Amino acid sequence: CGIVGYAGPKASAPSSRPVDVALQGLARLEYRGYDSAGVAVVDDDAVRVTKRAGKLANLREALAESSGSTETTGRVAIAHTRWATHGGPTDTNAHPHLGGHDHELAVVHNGIIENFATLRADLEADGFRFASETDSEAAAHLVAREMTQTGDLTEAMRRAAASLEGAFTLLAVHRDAPDTVVAARRNSPLVVGLGDGENFLGSDVAAFVDSTKEALEVGQDQVVTVTADDVRIIGFDGAEVTDAARYTIEWD
Ligand code: GLU
Repeated sequence: CGIVGYAGPKASAPSSRPVDVALQGLARLEYRGYDSAGVAVVDDDAVRVTKRAGKLANLREALAESSGSTETTGRVAIAHTRWATHGGPTDTNAHPHLGGHDHELAVVHNGIIENFATLRADLEADGFRFASETDSEAAAHLVAREMTQTGDLTEAMRRAAASLEGAFTLLAVHRDAPDTVVAARRNSPLVVGLGDGENFLGSDVAAFVDSTKEALEVGQDQVVTVTADDVRIIGFDGAEVTDAARYTIEWD
């Protein structure tokens, strides 16, 4: 339903900036309605997910518990408010979803993946274990499998996205690319926010409007790779996109 992504600079000490940006964005997206919320960061070479059914207050409480924290040693965060389509509104079905044999990746997803059942059967036959009833988790394992084959997160997302049917905005973070958030879209919105030494992703500009008013529109069937100081866009065919429209957000 609502998506936020953040890529910031390498910090010398643990920082709560990535999670703070994520929570601020989710609060801005609350108007869309949702049944669950969650956030993922990449801490010290491990992906950490915190997610809860219910209001954002439940997620904030979970982050305040000893198992979670708003502080991270990492530079990236992805976050989601869910409006369930496949699987009830439970903690387990909330996003982000972990992917890969080692849970080395996390994904958030807006929309519906029509061919998830076929993908899931194929991935289960390949030894990937599913935790949820969502269509989205198939995308998580799919990107993770492509990553083990290519070693490049952008290429992994491109290949995975090209084999998905339906409507999706997908964001992923991976243990082996700790400075990067990669995203893809088809029939579902995705906007980049251009900051000063940090960059943002959102399902709409509300996701990052508290941090920057400079935005870049991501086109249909495109993959965008975001770090603190770089934004790169390619098509699902792999061709580089150089004409993405840049604009200044008007917001009262
Ligand atoms: N189809 C996904 C799910 O049910 C995503 C729903 C959404 O867009 O929030 O988990």
